[in-house]
Amino acid sequence: MIERIKSLLADDTDASVTYAALEARLALEKVCYDRLRQRHDYIPHAELRGWSPSYVMNKIMADVDENLGKTMTLMIGSPVSLGIKPEDDDYTEIGTEVGFRPRVIASMWNALSNLALHVKLPEHKDDHISSYGDKAGIRAKVDLVVEELERISKGTMTFSGFGEEVSFECHCGQKNKRRAGLLKSGQTISCFNPKCSRGYKVTLEDDASFTFELDSVEILCAACGAITLAPRGALLKMDYEQPSTVVCVKCAHPNRVQWILARADLPSPDAQPQAD
Ligand SMILES: [Zn+2]
Ligand SMILES: [Zn+2]
Repeated sequence: MIERIKSLLADDTDASVTYAALEARLALEKVCYDRLRQRHDYIPHAELRGWSPSYVMNKIMADVDENLGKTMTLMIGSPVSLGIKPEDDDYTEIGTEVGFRPRVIASMWNALSNLALHVKLPEHKDDHISSYGDKAGIRAKVDLVVEELERISKGTMTFSGFGEEVSFECHCGQKNKRRAGLLKSGQTISCFNPKCSRGYKVTLEDDASFTFELDSVEILCAACGAITLAPRGALLKMDYEQPSTVVCVKCAHPNRVQWILARADLPSPDAQPQAD
C-alpha cells in the first residue's frame, strides 16, 4: 500500500496526488482495523457503534488494551529450571509492536479528507470550482502519512494486550473473555456471538472477582404468574407495536409482548417536555 501511494505521488498530477490521498486514508483505516482484529476476542462486534479510526482506537484502549499507544517488545528468558534470577537473565527478543498514536492518526485521516476528498464550496458567484484540491498541500499531508505508516510497519508482531483475563459463558453457549482491569462495576457488556443479543451486567464483588448477570426484564406469565427473565437486548430490538412472544419457563405459555406508548398517570407539575 505504501508503494502504491509513493508511485501515485511520483506521477505528480492533480489527479494522482488526490488518489494518493485516498489511498493514504484507506491505509490509515486498515492499520487501525488490523489492531482491532488482533483484539477482537475482547470486543463483541455489537459494541462497535462507529467505524472511524479514532472511534475504533479509543474503543480498543477503553475495553481491551490501554497500552495501545506504547511500543512493546516481547522477550523470552531462560527456562525457570535453570534457576537464574530474572534480573540476571539474558533475554531473547521475540518481536516488537510499534505503538499507535490515535490522535495523530485521527487528525491525519480528517485532514486528508478536508484537503483532498471534497470539492471546495464556491464562496461567490464568480468563484471557480476546481476538480481537485491544492496539490502542494495534499502532497505535504500524504508525505506525513507515509512517514507514519512506515514507522508503524517497523513492528514485527502484534499483541492482544496484557492483563488478567476473566470469562463467562453466555446462555447461547458462547464463551466471553474480558480484561479484568478494564471492566467497570455496573457496566453492561454484550455477548460475543454476533447472532446473540444478550447483554450482561458486570458487578465487582468484595473479593475482587467479577460476576456477570443477564441483563433481563421480568415477564410475569399471564397463565400461571411465574416470572420469566427475558433478555433485554432482544426486547429492545423489537420495533414499536411489533408483537413478540416470551415463553413461560414454568408452564410454557406463550406470553405476547409488544412496545407501547404509555402516559404517566400523575405527571409531576414541573416536568419539562423531553427533547430528543
Ligand atoms: Zn450469547
Ligand atoms: Zn406460566
